[in-house]
Amino acid sequence: MSKYWSDVVRQLQPYVPGEQPKIANLIKLNTNEHPLGPSPAVIDAIRAEADERLRLYPDPNSTQLKQAIADYYNVPRDRVFVGNGSDEVLAHLFVGMFQQDEPLLFPDITYSFYKVYCGLYQIDYETVPLDDSLSIVVDDYFRPNGGIIFPNPNAPTGRLLSLSEIERLLQYNTESVVAIDEAYIDFGGETAIALVDRYPNLLVTQTLSKSRSLAGLRIGLAVGPEELIDGLNRVKDSFNSYPLDRLAVVAGTAAFGDRDWFEKGRQLIVSQRDWLNQQFAKRGFQTLPSAANFLFTRHPQHRGSRLAQGLRDRGIIVRHFSQPDRISDYLRITVGMPEQNQALIAAMDTLLVH
Ligand SMILES: *Cc1c(COP(=O)(O)O)cnc(C)c1O
Repeated sequence: MSKYWSDVVRQLQPYVPGEQPKIANLIKLNTNEHPLGPSPAVIDAIRAEADERLRLYPDPNSTQLKQAIADYYNVPRDRVFVGNGSDEVLAHLFVGMFQQDEPLLFPDITYSFYKVYCGLYQIDYETVPLDDSLSIVVDDYFRPNGGIIFPNPNAPTGRLLSLSEIERLLQYNTESVVAIDEAYIDFGGETAIALVDRYPNLLVTQTLSKSRSLAGLRIGLAVGPEELIDGLNRVKDSFNSYPLDRLAVVAGTAAFGDRDWFEKGRQLIVSQRDWLNQQFAKRGFQTLPSAANFLFTRHPQHRGSRLAQGLRDRGIIVRHFSQPDRISDYLRITVGMPEQNQALIAAMDTLLVH
């Protein structure tokens, strides 16, 4: 605490990102990064852009990247917004659309950044409990609210909500913004972008950090009706006019252009996720069905904290949440390369015998 801090800063409870330790040979399965390197086309695009033009400001509207996203999803370009990671897109959404009289609603177990933005922007919120199977129940959101947000698939559970359930929510909830955070949608879900045409209060966010292996570049996007995109642009131009640098714009554009890399990467994750699922099942783990690039799993005979520490001692890091109680025995494990996943299972075997 410092006397120079404002009241808001005194009361913040900042997000704690998964660690990025600088330990050699560590198997890092804790932050849902893609285990493959990005598309070679992305690296080429960055190399070709890295010259004296870096002295110039980038295009404040990132038009080239927005066009690539618009083409990819077959939507008009003015329905696309981009930001410095989807976290920034979310921040703009919170201040731009969720500061309302009624509380914002989101699940009790979900991406923990939502609460942090509420603290930063002084937004009133209520959490809606997941059911006993850790699923989102859409009917529980049928009440007055100043906005609704959840990831689909949800994090850290990996559970997917069908588009028909999302549509049922949109049919009921017409007076506030419904935001679907699709950080993991490419690993097994169907995007809600197709619904944007019909629902003026739907905003869909995505990131290039997970399925396109570009966490190090920081590129996020939103697709929504023009009215909502205009709102985001007003916030962006009141905060940072150039959120994406020149390298990010060309890299993101190349990423959307390389469909082969994307498809291969996605298939690798899905097949490795299936393999890990089977291995866990054989050993008595209870694993939630995942549509993401991670599994949320627990063992009825072993504490989550002990397994996480035991893996760590063996050079493998996974994510363990000690709060809330309901999930404290679960581990959230990113799907890695085949040899990493095999090492994970071998390490688990040494832990389960004790
Ligand atoms: C990773 C993640 C994000 C943030 O993505 P960035 O684009 O890297 O900022 C947002 N929402 C959820 C649910 C995530 O897991």
